[in-house]
Amino acid sequence: MDVATRLDNLRERIATACQRVGRDPASVTLLAVSKGQPPAVIQSAARAGLTLFGENRVQEAKAKIGQCPGRLHWHLIGHLQTNKARDAVHFFDLIQSLDSLHVAQELEKWAARAAKTLPVLLEVNVAGEASKHGYAPADLLTALPAINALPHLAIHGLMTLAPWSPDPERARPVFRRLRALKGESEAILGAPLPHLSMGMSGDFETAIEEGATLIRIGTALFGERPTAPREPRPEPTPGPDG
Ligand SMILES: *Cc1c(COP(=O)(O)O)cnc(C)c1O
Repeated sequence: MDVATRLDNLRERIATACQRVGRDPASVTLLAVSKGQPPAVIQSAARAGLTLFGENRVQEAKAKIGQCPGRLHWHLIGHLQTNKARDAVHFFDLIQSLDSLHVAQELEKWAARAAKTLPVLLEVNVAGEASKHGYAPADLLTALPAINALPHLAIHGLMTLAPWSPDPERARPVFRRLRALKGESEAILGAPLPHLSMGMSGDFETAIEEGATLIRIGTALFGERPTAPREPRPEPTPGPDG
């Protein structure tokens, strides 16, 4: 199946999920997660009408973005280290995965030098998984004022990854909690936050029902990713005879 066919199918599923909760499908933005995909695949997605792409590693994105001409927009959705902040400011339109004041200060420094305002989402580790990055919910609320005070960063909302499960219903409490945290954050900041980035290929319909405005879709658009260094295939286990 090609990207255009998968995209048609996804748009239908997005519309159906919106209909269930009385939302306008235009209130849900589809971000195509292109990590692990070569520029040719990204270009075919662009031809199918996609304009917003997400990458989880700065180095990989830096190599690919220049090879994908056109009016494409790029979000960083993976963990950012301070030594990559300069490139992140240069290559990305928005950072979805901000998770520390230290990184925020580094982004502020480079955004100021570039004389631009960088939109960010704060990543929240709602379920407290050791394997994931992001603020613990309580830490998020205390971190907000200091990040909000940085003049070249603009907080646009919150992002989370639900724990992996074959059952999307398991993600619902996580999405609900993120939405509640958005409300608490808005009260602290005294301003509305437009974005809730939640939902991936396996759980985006549940996320839409719970208020997602940005869904991050990889495999449902592109099929299984080519094997990446971060996601090694398990070695076949030798039998009893070796
Ligand atoms: C890989 C990734 C996705 C997309 O995952 P799929 O299951 O392939 O849709 C979404 N968000 C983040 C942060 C990712 O790293």
